[in-house]
Amino acid sequence: MRQQCRITCNNPLNSEYVIIGFHSTEIAAASRPGCFYHLAVPRSETSLRVPISCYDVIGNEIFLLVKIIGEGTRCLAQLQKEDTLDVMGPLGNSFTHVEGKRVLLVSGGVGYAPLRFLKRVLEENNEIRWVHGGRAEEDAMPADLICTED
Ligand SMILES: Cc1cc2nc3c(=O)[nH]c(=O)nc-3n(C[C@H](O)[C@H](O)[C@H](O)COP(=O)(O)OP(=O)(O)OC[C@H]3O[C@@H](n4cnc5c(N)ncnc54)[C@H](O)[C@@H]3O)c2cc1C
Repeated sequence: MRQQCRITCNNPLNSEYVIIGFHSTEIAAASRPGCFYHLAVPRSETSLRVPISCYDVIGNEIFLLVKIIGEGTRCLAQLQKEDTLDVMGPLGNSFTHVEGKRVLLVSGGVGYAPLRFLKRVLEENNEIRWVHGGRAEEDAMPADLICTED
């Protein structure tokens, strides 16, 4: 589906990462861990869309973890509450659902994003351990074990 969605929050985590929230009852209901959205880049000449994973869903609010890499992600990171975002999705596949297992989640850098929602869903019926790595302090996100190169 494609919708014009209202931005609900913009929370910078550090100089490289920002969490953006948007509202959509339909997209929230259809979103599963591992899915992503194609986002039209706001205030930009380009007509290209940027793929961004579903970071979390709480009620009718969808959250994105955006790492600022180039023009597209920089424009997304500038979105403010009450702005409108053109969202296509959810797209892609989900993870296999398991119960009663010991699950190891391993992520690096912005690869953290799709595992957050998965962890919340799996931790109800599984034992989860999460190992996360990155290049620098900015890449460090909450996990059971965090490793950075610096
Ligand atoms: C399925 C999918 C899900 C994704 N989920 C997320 C997500 O949840 N959060 C998020 O922040 N990003 C995610 N990405 C990556 C994101 O789409 C890219 O970072 C973004 O398209 C870059 O666009 P840009 O216009 O900002 O940079 P561009 O102008 O396209 O690129 C700027 C420079 O960075 C380089 N570059 C581009 N992408 C990357 C990258 N991923 N890693 C390292 N260098 C890169 C380019 O080669 C170029 O040199 C996802 C990508 C895919 C395919």
